[in-house]
Amino acid sequence: MSTIFTKIINREINASIVFEDDEVLAFNDVNPQAPVHVLIIPKREIATLNDLTEEDATLVGRLHLVAAKIARDKGIAEDGYRVVMNCNEQGGQSVYHIHLHLMGGRQMSWPAG
Ligand code: 5GP
Repeated sequence: MSTIFTKIINREINASIVFEDDEVLAFNDVNPQAPVHVLIIPKREIATLNDLTEEDATLVGRLHLVAAKIARDKGIAEDGYRVVMNCNEQGGQSVYHIHLHLMGGRQMSWPAG
């Protein structure tokens, strides 16, 4: 089942895109929870973390490498940042197309709510 993120990939709706390659897209979250809040997604539709297989290991690694690159590009790498993926209802997932949240530019608290 496609989500709004597929519409962003296909340029059917606008997003502020900060990175793109053949497999990965990253764009600013429409409702930012931190001064830097970027979503990093695979272009392939994968609904949740539970749906990943061994074959996706490289792709998941790529998502993290892109997150670290964006953090460097945005100047938050040294101070620090958070990368998180929510899974299903109790994990707080609202869009069922996997995505890393890259958040930074302020002090993060722990545990996350
Ligand atoms: P989740 O709750 O699934 O972990 O995160 C989904 C994120 O997608 C939320 O932070 C939400 O603000 C963001 N989001 C939902 N719809 C859109 C949209 O149309 N454009 C953008 N840029 N972000 C969106």
